[in-house]
Amino acid sequence: MESTSDTLIDAHVHIFSDGLYEGIRQSMEAGGCSHINFLSVPRQDGRGTYNEVALSYKKIDPERFYCFGALDYSGPNGEPFHFRSMTAADRAALAECLGRQPAQLKAQGFDGIKIIEGAAGVRRILTFPLDGEIYAPFFAAAEKERMPLTWHVGDSPERWDPAKMADLEKAGDRVYNQPGDQSLEAFRAEAENVLRRHPNLIVIFAHYYFLGGELQRARDLLRAYPNVCLDVTPGGRMYKLLNDQWDEARQFHIDCQDRLIFGTDLPGLANKDKWPIGSAVNSWRGMRAYFASDGPMAGPCPGAKFLEPGQTMRALNLPQPALAKLLRENFRRIVGKAPARLP
Ligand SMILES: [Zn+2]
Repeated sequence: MESTSDTLIDAHVHIFSDGLYEGIRQSMEAGGCSHINFLSVPRQDGRGTYNEVALSYKKIDPERFYCFGALDYSGPNGEPFHFRSMTAADRAALAECLGRQPAQLKAQGFDGIKIIEGAAGVRRILTFPLDGEIYAPFFAAAEKERMPLTWHVGDSPERWDPAKMADLEKAGDRVYNQPGDQSLEAFRAEAENVLRRHPNLIVIFAHYYFLGGELQRARDLLRAYPNVCLDVTPGGRMYKLLNDQWDEARQFHIDCQDRLIFGTDLPGLANKDKWPIGSAVNSWRGMRAYFASDGPMAGPCPGAKFLEPGQTMRALNLPQPALAKLLRENFRRIVGKAPARLP
């Protein structure tokens, strides 16, 4: 088993406020996390992004933080393009504007780009299909600039499952059964159309591409697209699904050990102005223990809340080389040995 002094890189953390550096640094030191990759997203009001917030941490401590920028949809007057009925000229202007952003983000010191636009909830606002004309120049430029993408595709399958809808709605979770919502398979088809057009595009699909319950399909995807990786950031019932097929799940993590990237989403962090030191440390410890330790999980671990009564979560006990790749080496190989320099 690996030593707890071996650090991890958390490739999937969102940040919405600046000024939290001291708490972040303390939690990283206590939780054995050497680097965080902050993922920016567009602002909900459509006016700009959280890119400057993410970069503010890199400016304080450029060795410790990677940053993936978000796309900016602001139009020429600051008014977001998609907030009005778009003419053909608007569509062309937006496509051109998005196409310039990979090079701009790279020049600003970003390490990659976060694509939240494939998330089913976000699609209700940013309605453009990712394999359509609006994004074509963007994906071509991301491929050319070799900017890695962390891409959220669809959402957890149960959110489209009529048998589970009522329970989810009761729990206040979003379900995608409204007019205009598209199917999970339609989101996946968009993503795979883009991959076919851009074989050199570097893509990290977030949350195992929501294939935690379909590991053969995950293997097929990784085989078909050599520049695709999956991040293991928890999403929906995924870790319960892995636990339900423990032998196959462990073998998947061993066979695909070069293609998996560690991330947490640091649960409960969204829109908080205070950095939750304790819960960050617990997330890192619990997730590391899930992959590294052996036997039933005693402490907190991802997906535990979805277990049925009497079920326990069993840790994956990955061999050392697979674990080191998952926790840090794959990210370094794909994104960079150290964070990109600021200009
Ligand atoms: Zn996320």
